[in-house]
Formats: sequence, structure tokens, C-alpha cells
Amino acid sequence: MILLIISLYQIFPAPASLLYPLNDLKTIMIKQEALYSGKAKTVFKTDNTDKFIMEFRNSLTAFDGKKKSEARGKGYYNAQISQTLFKFLEEKGIKTHFDHMLSDTEMVVDAVEIVLIEVIVRNIAAGSITKKYPFKTGDKLNPPIIIFDYKSDEFGDPMINDDMALAMGLATKAELEEIRKLSLKINSILVEYLAGKNLLLPDFKLEFGRRKGNIVLADEISCDTCRFWDRTTGESLDKDVFRFDKGDLVAAYREVAKRIVPGIKL
Ligand code: 5GP
Repeated sequence: MILLIISLYQIFPAPASLLYPLNDLKTIMIKQEALYSGKAKTVFKTDNTDKFIMEFRNSLTAFDGKKKSEARGKGYYNAQISQTLFKFLEEKGIKTHFDHMLSDTEMVVDAVEIVLIEVIVRNIAAGSITKKYPFKTGDKLNPPIIIFDYKSDEFGDPMINDDMALAMGLATKAELEEIRKLSLKINSILVEYLAGKNLLLPDFKLEFGRRKGNIVLADEISCDTCRFWDRTTGESLDKDVFRFDKGDLVAAYREVAKRIVPGIKL
């Protein structure tokens, strides 16, 4: 039976919307309508209510959408960096929404209910913290600083504390504790791993989701959501290249991919 399906597939290639890998016939799924289209990714429903498809696009925005652009190859590098880091974190015991890659830019993920909190982890001062507080770019932040922002375009992602998160019903006290604990663990795993790639991790943003009673890491970990600095030169290899017109964005993302994604096609 399987041989018959494979032969038919070779004669009549599947339509783009019929998604498979053939080596795992259980995962055949149909891509359905977009559930959500953000600034750089689109999330699609599938015929399996337990899985979504997350597509990494080439669009770029900064400063609450005021600056916009497109960069060919950006979606590809971010998808590849994200899948590598999700797999690495899974190996280290962190539960994530990652399931498998469907194509170079499409990731199948577990359906989760996103917690409307953006967690910012900071190891070295950079970006907004140097504008709003008396830190200078490059100041070491030890222990790392964890900041919660309310994930809301309407309100401009304002910083919140635990009391506000509880008052708004964004998460329970136990979930907030779990999110903080997981964020610190993810941070120490990533800092050590990236040091081996000659990269510093000044700060990054994480999002979490609820799945079967657990808190799992969701969204992406990429050059759009992290600051990566070359350890030797201090050069930015992340979205700051776009935010502050520092040079060739795709070349910067490609450099990070080259260092961390095994066997990446450049
Ligand atoms: P900052 O507060 O300096 O703007 O950002 C701190 C870190 O969190 C940076 O690595 C930045 O990329 C990430 N970050 C904060 N908010 C967002 C957001 O809304 N979208 C994305 N992609 N990254 C964010």
C-alpha cells in the first residue's frame, strides 16, 4: 500500500497545499487559512487541529512598525536559526512547540495558547534599556535582568510587573514563576552555546504557550528576536543592522546561520 502511494506520488506530485514528508505518512496535513499574520511570520491552521504551520517571511519592521522593508533570504535564515536553537534546547530538556520543518521557511509547530507576555532577557545593556535607564551600551548585567512586556500592539508592548500580569489575567502566579525559571535556564544554555560560536547574546525576547497543562517555549529565536554580537569585533549580527542602518542585514543573518546551523545552504 505504501509503495503504491509512493509510486502515485512520483507520477502525480502533490499540490503545494498538500504537505507531507513521505517518510512519515502520519504527518500528512493540509495547509488551511492563515490564523494570524504578524510582522515577519504567518501562522496557518492545518487539518490537524493540534498543529500549526509557521511561515517565516522576508518582511521586516522596527520601531512599532514605523520602519518597514523586505530582505530576500531573511525568512530562510531565521527559520533555520530558530529550528536549530529549538532542537538544541529540546536536547537540553526545554519543552518547545517545534515539531519539524516542512520546507526551508515553514515550521510545523504544536498548537499552543500563547501567553500574552513577551519576556526580555538581558545580559549586556543595549537598546531600549540604555534610553530609559542609566545603563550604557555594553554594561554587563549580572545577574541577568528579566523583563515582562504586555504583548499588545494596541498598547505598544508596555513593561509590566507580576501584579499587573495577574490583574490582567495574563497568567497565574505559578505560570509566571515557571516562565521566569525557564527563561533563565534558556538564557544560560544559549549564552554558553553561542560563546562556542564566538557570539555574545546581549538580550533576546521569548514567548511561551500553554499546552496540555504545561508552559512551553513558542514563537521563534532568531536574528529578529535576539541581539547577537560578534565576540571579537562587537559587530551587530541581528535586526539592529536594519534598525540603525548598520549595513547588509542579510549578510549579518547569513553569518549567524553559518556559525550555528549545521550544513546550512548559504
Ligand atoms: P529592546 O527593548 O532593546 O527594543 O529589545 C530587547 C530585545 O528584545 C532585543 O533583542 C529585541 O530584538 C527583542 N524584542 C523586544 N521586543 C520585541 C518585539 O516586539 N519583537 C521582536 N522581534 N523582538 C523584540
